[in-house]
Amino acid sequence: MVGATGKLIDTYGRVHNNLRISVTDRCNLRCTYCMPEEVVFMDKHELLSFEEITRFVAIAAPLGIDKIRLTGGEPLLRRDLPRLVAMICAVPGIKDVGLTTNGILLAHQAQPLFDAGLRRINISLDTLDPDRFRQLARRDGLDKVLEGIHAAKKAGFNPVKINAVSIRGVTEHEVVPLANFARLHRLEMRFIEYMPIGADHWERDKVYFAHEILDQLEQHVGPLMPAQDYDPKAPAMDFDYVDGGGRVGIIASVSRPFCMSCNRVRLTADGKVRNCLFALDEIDLKPLLRDDAPVEEIAALVRANVWAKWEGHEINTARVVKPERTMHTIGG
Ligand code: SAM
Ligand code: SF4
Repeated sequence: MVGATGKLIDTYGRVHNNLRISVTDRCNLRCTYCMPEEVVFMDKHELLSFEEITRFVAIAAPLGIDKIRLTGGEPLLRRDLPRLVAMICAVPGIKDVGLTTNGILLAHQAQPLFDAGLRRINISLDTLDPDRFRQLARRDGLDKVLEGIHAAKKAGFNPVKINAVSIRGVTEHEVVPLANFARLHRLEMRFIEYMPIGADHWERDKVYFAHEILDQLEQHVGPLMPAQDYDPKAPAMDFDYVDGGGRVGIIASVSRPFCMSCNRVRLTADGKVRNCLFALDEIDLKPLLRDDAPVEEIAALVRANVWAKWEGHEINTARVVKPERTMHTIGG
């Protein structure tokens, strides 16, 4: 029965239209919750070329993929990224191309990316305090990220979304300053519950939960109401400030998993397809993409991979197994 209709559907009836593509595993930061301090990166020749990535997108689009997000590692480290954006935007059926970046190199790239057709951008920023930034990212760079955020706004991205990982005792105290910063600069703040996908030791107690973030925001920033266009199937729970001061998204991957409405599939920088961030199996398409294998052969493998998707991650159970790859080699 796999993929009888050709679309990317799994045994739970979830239809997949959302592809996240990692363009590199390299990064210019070393966020503690994402990757180890010392890393052996993939050889450059292991990475899919822009042509191979675009070939994959052209095969995936007729299977129902219409929304793409480029990520990494740090995607802006991949030279000439606007060229890839333009190539992907030109694939028939692709409606929406987004990017998640740490913002360090964004100041010079925001405009060329916008001009190439990129319209959605998420910039990761966990703190406005330079010392805390250095502790979390094991590198300096707060000023550059702030420059990148302003460049994104100037280039015309709207909204500019800011991602912050929510870790008890670590980023818990950043919630209010970040929310105020976002209100001041008309950015959309998104808090993401800390997940067991990095190189560090994760425990449930370290997650600073969605309801705690909301309590802080309501007490110290302003009353919130569910956004009118709130989509219960989307990963983020969106709230608007009652006073019109903007929007906040909460991604409660741990306390309120959205697995049953997950529509995502992933392509790693080295050409592996994964049906879940936490998947333990993946299929290697690089040789097929490289050798110009028949479209139907590749499509069949992708359909089979999605068909085999499990019910959901098991972060909240004792059965959870951390994937061998850490976040930066999968693509967040
Ligand atoms: N380097 C880019 C960046 O930081 O935005 C893109 C890749 S990064 C892996 C994508 C997103 O994953 C970032 O917003 C990051 O904060 C988030 N992330 C990384 N590790 C995480 C974890 N353990 N739990 C929750 N989110 C995480
Ligand atoms: Fe790099 Fe992004 Fe991971 Fe931080 S979260 S180490 S910026 S890939």
